[in-house]
Amino acid sequence: MRFIIQHCFSYLMIILVITTAVLLGANFYTAVAVVETVGSNPVTVVIDAGHGGEDGGAVSADGVRESVINLQIALRLNDLFHLLGTETKMTRTEDVSLHSDDHATIAAKKVSDLKNRVELVNGVPNPLLVSIHQNMFEESKYHGMQVFYAPTGGSQSLAETIQSITAIDPTNRRVAKPAESIYLMQNIRCTGVLVECGFLSNPEECAKLCTDGYQKQMSLTVAAGVTDYLRKVSTNEV
Ligand SMILES: [Zn+2]
Repeated sequence: MRFIIQHCFSYLMIILVITTAVLLGANFYTAVAVVETVGSNPVTVVIDAGHGGEDGGAVSADGVRESVINLQIALRLNDLFHLLGTETKMTRTEDVSLHSDDHATIAAKKVSDLKNRVELVNGVPNPLLVSIHQNMFEESKYHGMQVFYAPTGGSQSLAETIQSITAIDPTNRRVAKPAESIYLMQNIRCTGVLVECGFLSNPEECAKLCTDGYQKQMSLTVAAGVTDYLRKVSTNEV
């Protein structure tokens, strides 16, 4: 019975990853390699849903809060990694700020929240950080996912691997960039990236980011990128 269950799970995994690969335009052999490596990888992926609680992050013209979209995509990402057998730790699973109780002003709470996130990430054994955010700009024409990387080993490669998966938006020409002034990225000790999934300032992209379908595609993109990066690490390609 146990053998049958394990076998069914393996088939499910293969179907999932092949479906993911087909959806994202990767080739079949990459998909099979991913199936072989993710189950035994000891890395814990820390999934950080940016902002939360009083800090809603960016807000679209029609009131969509970044913190809400971040959490929805982060929860989907968490589900995908569990299905793939990859350990995860989420910084938050509800719409809350992570500041300590002894701070009164919004600015102090924000600083405390970021320090607590850094402490949480650095306290996880063998972590890899993926921080989920949404972008904002004065002009509404800009769109597309962009990945920013920490100055730690492996981060640039991880960012470029995620950024290279463009099936979700083939017109996206953005490139991965260093996260130069982002406190969380500058203070973690592990491989880490911050994914700006899209622009809330672009009404079309904002509407897509609110849908189940696009959130699923976005979380698949990030999960496939992280999984492919871990495969490259395990085969000494990075
Ligand atoms: Zn943000």
